Amino acid sequence: MNGDHSKLGEPARSILEGEYSNMLSCIRCGLCLTSCPTYVLSGHEAEGPRGRVAMARALVEGKVDLTPDLIAHEQNCLVCDACTAVCPAGVSMDPIQVALRTAIEPNINAERPAHIKGLRKFVFRRLFADMRVFRLLVRSIVLYQRTGLQWIARRSGILKLLRLDEPEALLPAKIPTKFVVPNGEVHPSKNGRGDRSTGFFAGCVMSTAMADVDRATVRVCQKAGWNVSETAGQGCCGALNAHGGDLEGMKTLAKRNIEAFEKEGGAPIVINSAGCGAMLKDYAHHFRNDEEWAERAKKFSDRVKDVTELVEPDDFEFRGSVERTVTYQEPCHLVHAQKISKQPRALLKAIPGLELREMEESSLCCGSAGVYNVTNPEESSQLQKRKLDNAKETGAETIATANPGCHMQLAGGIKNRGEATEVKHIVELLDEATGGKESG
Ligand code: SF4
Ligand code: SF4
Repeated sequence: MNGDHSKLGEPARSILEGEYSNMLSCIRCGLCLTSCPTYVLSGHEAEGPRGRVAMARALVEGKVDLTPDLIAHEQNCLVCDACTAVCPAGVSMDPIQVALRTAIEPNINAERPAHIKGLRKFVFRRLFADMRVFRLLVRSIVLYQRTGLQWIARRSGILKLLRLDEPEALLPAKIPTKFVVPNGEVHPSKNGRGDRSTGFFAGCVMSTAMADVDRATVRVCQKAGWNVSETAGQGCCGALNAHGGDLEGMKTLAKRNIEAFEKEGGAPIVINSAGCGAMLKDYAHHFRNDEEWAERAKKFSDRVKDVTELVEPDDFEFRGSVERTVTYQEPCHLVHAQKISKQPRALLKAIPGLELREMEESSLCCGSAGVYNVTNPEESSQLQKRKLDNAKETGAETIATANPGCHMQLAGGIKNRGEATEVKHIVELLDEATGGKESG
């Protein structure tokens, strides 16, 4: 990096300064170190939370320059929030990383080749900004999978040549052709408690590549006694923008979602993707200093509930049993960012016939972390292997999870290893145990 791009300019500095008090909370106790996946893998201070907070703080204080080393250590962070969950001083890593990545983005972007700049702009400002474009892209992936192009690409070696073989392997085996397009339709309660209503946040990946899980989520909520509205006007949550250094892009998406769900009063907003749920709950923090949006964002965030928070075991009438051994892998953004750990297990344990077997390090990141498996393939595959080894030790036939990134990361790894374990979202198991589509 040349000297011109080693200093923070404005407004970068003030964006980072917004998290300065958060950084100052760090008392350097080191309690977070052994929870941090990148520290566990490397043993390096700069690859742990304490080191990352110290580097960010030194950058705000003008004590260090923006060196390639500093950038690499910060970008190796999975933003998994495992450190946040155990920190006795209340340091919150996610907002520090969002501010830091946004602050240094202009310096990094200046060094990128033109085609990468163009690609980033397209992904963050067109693809995630417009669900019609997103759906078009997923439709072309469906065509790629179903016309034989995938078969040719995989055997020709072109994917390896373009270094796309690893991310391509993570594509779900068979993407559904029918997507969920939220249009305001209301799906009525199925257990007689029709007075409860919830707005469903469909997500971008979930409503397309994993649309079957979205449909199962709607059915499960109906069967738990909720009227479920597919709220019109919603879009992507903005998590990938925020963690990719595009805070403004995230805020644009957030405003659209806040406006869309305001039309439905104060009903809970249910979501089945841990990463998106954590982002929606963080809108309140990111708009806290915005006169026009602070209150609206706070009200919105307060309404957000992961599906495992919204529905309870007693809500269901289970039909038959699901004779299966299952282990649960905790998505970072559910257990660390949202502190939801008991509820998914309670739901799984309530399913007749299902045997829940706990794995070691259930809450250690699986290496997916948004696009971490694309940006940091080596560390990502180390974490993926560790997670799958731990799952295998339990002898379970199924790995249950609650986040699309983890789902694809685990399923992709299992396919590469030639194993037979299946990966399921918790709602898919609940749906099966309550009669599936027939009763939804
Ligand atoms: S646990 Fe919190 S206070 Fe202690 S070193 Fe880690 S970030 Fe700092
Ligand atoms: S967010 Fe995760 S990877 Fe990043 S410093 Fe904290 S524990 Fe480590």
